[in-house]
Amino acid sequence: MKITAIHVYQVDLPLKEGRYAWSNGNFVEVFDSTVVAIETDAGLAGYAECCPLGSAYLPAYARGVRAGLEEIAPKLIGLDPTDIVAVNQAMDAALNGHPYVKSPIDIACWDLLGKVAKLPLVKLLGGAAQPDVKLYRAISQEEPQTMARKIAGYKAEGYTKFQLKVGGDPREDIARIHACRKILHEGDILVADANTGWTRHEAARVIAAVADLDLYIEQPCLTYEECLSIRRRTGKPFVLDENITGLETLVRAIADDAMDIVNLKISKVGGFSKARAMRDLCVAHGISMTIEDTWGGDIVTAAIAHLAQSTPAEFVFSATDFNSYVSKTIAHNAPRRVGGAMKTPEGHGLGIEPDFAVLGSPVLSF
Ligand code: MG
Repeated sequence: MKITAIHVYQVDLPLKEGRYAWSNGNFVEVFDSTVVAIETDAGLAGYAECCPLGSAYLPAYARGVRAGLEEIAPKLIGLDPTDIVAVNQAMDAALNGHPYVKSPIDIACWDLLGKVAKLPLVKLLGGAAQPDVKLYRAISQEEPQTMARKIAGYKAEGYTKFQLKVGGDPREDIARIHACRKILHEGDILVADANTGWTRHEAARVIAAVADLDLYIEQPCLTYEECLSIRRRTGKPFVLDENITGLETLVRAIADDAMDIVNLKISKVGGFSKARAMRDLCVAHGISMTIEDTWGGDIVTAAIAHLAQSTPAEFVFSATDFNSYVSKTIAHNAPRRVGGAMKTPEGHGLGIEPDFAVLGSPVLSF
């Protein structure tokens, strides 16, 4: 089987809530997402999506996905998409770094592998290890009472895990955490995710002020060393996200006992091939994961479902149904949340079919 063409689509995904805000005054109102279609001489096509969280969150941006694909895609025509290691080597030879650009190619090749094997990707990524995947809800940074009210609303929809966007003024963050924990029940999970927004002293101050609460702390500071310092001062369960960029940083963080949980974002690390290796390393070391991505719609949500459902339940701290945050449907048969959980779609590969009536014409073709 050979790759005969690669088409790239751009789609705007407006947020149902209107805005998603996190640390340092950052926000996004409409997500710019990229969908990739790989065509083959066997008549099968593979699909994937990549959607960075704006341009200020990670070293990734939406137009960068498409600019990077312009460098990579022409070099992939003629390769066998089911030789996924070789495809990744060809991508690395064409473009140094930029794992998020390579992620949709890697995932679309996995989608094709599933279609050739006539198996859903959850099987090829390890097999179904749990019947469904428990989801968390991210709560955009707002006034403490507004955040608490939103948690109450999402709790009524079935979520039991919540990730508060903090990383702002420490006094306000302390109020946000108290207001939100207060309305939750025992057993509900609350994560305070500062998204690198606190300095060390701010992180130390917030953590001391919420010492008596059942709470997880996620990525308090910008650098790994700052986070490690805070980690060593607190008994709170500790999550690293932005600093875990690939296998190398994960290996170091495991050796340093730097976290209890890793936030594994599939596109940040370069797609399923890399994320699967990191997932297996985490499981081997007793590290649980939030399995998700930087953002996205139906196709990203399907990819998350396959990787998460093939991971043992005790190591899936949570996952994300991004397609319920946005107001546009871009694929048929995507997972839909039921009572705070989702399942992989039926069918081969990712199990989704892009809605080309919504995606329109490709913005790039190779
Ligand atoms: Mg995070």
